[in-house]
Amino acid sequence: MKKLPLDLSFRNLETLQINNSPSCNIFVPRPSNLSVGDKSINAEEKQAGVAIARLFFKNRRREIMVWLSYGVYLRIPLNILYLRAVPFPMLSKSFVRTRIAPTPSGFLHVGNIFSFAITASLARKTGAAILLRIDDLDQARVQEQYVRDIFESLNFLGIPWDEGPKDYGEYKNKFSQLHRLPLYEKALHQLREGGHVFACSCSRTTREKCNCRNKDLSLDDPNNAWRIYTPPSAELPPTMHEFIVKKKDGFPSYQLACVVDDNHYNIDLIIRGDDLRDSSKAQWYLAKLLGYTSFTSSTIIHHRLLMESPEQKLSKSAGSTSIQYLRKEGKSPEEIFELVSKMAGLSKTLRYWKEFDVALETDL
Ligand SMILES: [Zn+2]
Repeated sequence: MKKLPLDLSFRNLETLQINNSPSCNIFVPRPSNLSVGDKSINAEEKQAGVAIARLFFKNRRREIMVWLSYGVYLRIPLNILYLRAVPFPMLSKSFVRTRIAPTPSGFLHVGNIFSFAITASLARKTGAAILLRIDDLDQARVQEQYVRDIFESLNFLGIPWDEGPKDYGEYKNKFSQLHRLPLYEKALHQLREGGHVFACSCSRTTREKCNCRNKDLSLDDPNNAWRIYTPPSAELPPTMHEFIVKKKDGFPSYQLACVVDDNHYNIDLIIRGDDLRDSSKAQWYLAKLLGYTSFTSSTIIHHRLLMESPEQKLSKSAGSTSIQYLRKEGKSPEEIFELVSKMAGLSKTLRYWKEFDVALETDL
């Protein structure tokens, strides 16, 4: 990310105004330094007069870069850019719907709960309904005990949801992603019709050097995956170069299913971990190709990740951070939330899910 030679103090940013305009708020915590960059506004967005402002929280020294780029946060007409810094929960916006979307390939752990607590807390403050969506397309790794654990852990911790399955039976009969395969197929068909995909026969081990775009392989061969063309104008990170939309097993990829679901359920507020930034960009690109305007105008917030220690990321396989384990150890919900807030490095110890929106206000 190229930085503009423009450093603004918080106070300056607060009063920066270009032309007279209705207010568009960019939400920032209270950092000591801010800088503004202007990368990645493509011609189409300029034409539409819209840029998307993105907050980027750069490391724990609380330096912040705010730049105009893909993917996230708020739509701001370019020519009426007006930045006003306010604490995050003062969000003047209200939202229709957000989601918590666990993957049942393991027991829920403290990292999931941090994300869900922020989501639920922000939802209750912005009027958004909370959808529980269980992302179970990776059928080889899904287990019934993990699905049941989602309900048990959320109920134990008191984290609410308003829509989606209430229990295992409802999940199985009505809400599993398997019920939405026709929707994913439709999107894949649309991408194919638009000439946006090519077939790839690489195995996991050769995928790194995939050159299939030049091979004209058949999209109808069930053994081939589908990749998306990502021209330089897509401005995607290297990790999302020609990302897969249909896997070799015939199922849609995570990126595809996720964006189709978010569109299908009219999600306009997405809260997810920092490790999904690249995914957000890929999904935004997909949404654009598919004409999902509700997705491209949604607000996406990435939060910091929980750490095992200051240097070490939380391991997903770490059994001792699963909610199930902590419950068996006799921990109460309040104690678990305390642990979560400590592992997140928050300045305040929190005991209830309702309080976790402050993780976005002061601690990112
Ligand atoms: Zn390939």
